[in-house]
Amino acid sequence: MPKCLVIGGGIAGLSAAVHLSRQNIEVTLLEASPKLGGRAYSYWDNSLNIEIDNGQHIMMSCYHDTIEFLKIIGARENIYVQDYLSICYKDKSGKEYFLNADKMFYPFNLIIALLRFDAIPILNRISILSLLVKIKFGKKPKAEQTVKEWLLANKQSESSIKYFWEIIAIGTLNTNIDDAQALLFFNVLNEIFNKGNANTKIIIPKIGLSRMYSDDAKKFIELNGGNILFPERVLEIKTCGDNVCEVITTQKSYTDFDFIISSIPYFAVEKLNANLVFPEELMMNYSPIITIHIVLRENNFSKKFYGLFDSKLHWVFNNGTHLSVVSSAADELNSLTPDELAEYTFSELEKFFIIFQQDLIVDYKVIREKRATFKPGFKTERQRTMIRSNYNNFDVAGDWANTGLPATIEGAVRSGKSAAERLMKKINGNSLVD
Ligand SMILES: Cc1cc2nc3c(=O)[nH]c(=O)nc-3n(C[C@H](O)[C@H](O)[C@H](O)COP(=O)(O)OP(=O)(O)OC[C@H]3O[C@@H](n4cnc5c(N)ncnc54)[C@H](O)[C@@H]3O)c2cc1C
Repeated sequence: MPKCLVIGGGIAGLSAAVHLSRQNIEVTLLEASPKLGGRAYSYWDNSLNIEIDNGQHIMMSCYHDTIEFLKIIGARENIYVQDYLSICYKDKSGKEYFLNADKMFYPFNLIIALLRFDAIPILNRISILSLLVKIKFGKKPKAEQTVKEWLLANKQSESSIKYFWEIIAIGTLNTNIDDAQALLFFNVLNEIFNKGNANTKIIIPKIGLSRMYSDDAKKFIELNGGNILFPERVLEIKTCGDNVCEVITTQKSYTDFDFIISSIPYFAVEKLNANLVFPEELMMNYSPIITIHIVLRENNFSKKFYGLFDSKLHWVFNNGTHLSVVSSAADELNSLTPDELAEYTFSELEKFFIIFQQDLIVDYKVIREKRATFKPGFKTERQRTMIRSNYNNFDVAGDWANTGLPATIEGAVRSGKSAAERLMKKINGNSLVD
């Protein structure tokens, strides 16, 4: 039985290990930290006395590889999927604006939803539709255009950018529209809006992220004969000719393997051996996400989530036991202390929601993920298309790999699955078999 070491137990590593362990490959997964899940995990917070995620994660129904992964590990029932795309946005006067598709046939339900989206003047809604049509017909942006440049070139008004495009761009790319590559954004929009109703719905986990992804994945891998070892950090990777021949960890040295899939972030791979991946010097800058979890004495929020207009806070998720308030591409807020952040958050929430008053707050927790995702600028995106391993028995996965997607759960799952597929092709010429 061929043996594969998987380095890293985030979503990409778990995906590679799950797919390989279904194919009669003996998998050993090595994870440096005392938990699985990488940048998507949950834990029981003793001070709040509830389970919280490191950051609210949402998925879309176009996350096909993720949904397949959840089905394989038996965790499909852990997600809530909207019947139709439905988003409630709010402004600072508390007014609500709805982007609601309904039972009508696709794409008419989306067209009607947009035409009714009265946060934006009607003529601007029509130009949003006309840009979506251009996307449908494959009119791609130039590789060196930023999202902002592309939107302006396509005659999108300030209000369409602010109240429609920018919200989607920051949410999916976690990067300011002045920096993010338009072509990647185009791919995201194409996936979400142009492939039928089945792709447009928002998906929210019903349980904590670790229970949702890691626990069942671990069970699945172990039931299929794999080993998961943590905490065990890989310190060095040695090469002999065209192959990797030794992996040195905090616990031992491994030489008895046929293949290695590394699923750790680019900055971590570089430290193990600078020559493993081409191109050697990727331009990867990172963007923070800040989440403020708030426990209330009384939770009167009726919707599962809300989008916020004109704020450095972007989304409020109502998780029953607590609210999770998210700021993406949060470079500016990142310089604030936790107390300053909380003060800013509470005073913003009071403007948006009449049902939010500071005397209802029991406790809160600020979680900053400073390197939440890489920034997909056009230099980074050009280099990503060239990423490959320099060694025969070594491959790379991770949300930063060449997936054509931004740094997301879907990108991570897909990268792990693709690495497993390439490995299976090397072994027997076939890809994965069900
Ligand atoms: C706050 C936040 C909110 C997010 N929101 C969303 C969202 O709403 N929707 C969405 O789709 N995506 C979201 N993302 C992005 C998503 O979480 C990531 O893209 C995805 O989890 C990355 O998975 P990965 O396996 O590629 O990398 P990682 O999660 O970084 O996993 C890499 C693993 O490798 C381990 N490791 C590192 N070095 C070594 C070593 N030397 N030896 C062994 N192990 C090592 C690490 O400990 C880690 O567990 C969010 C991310 C954050 C942080």
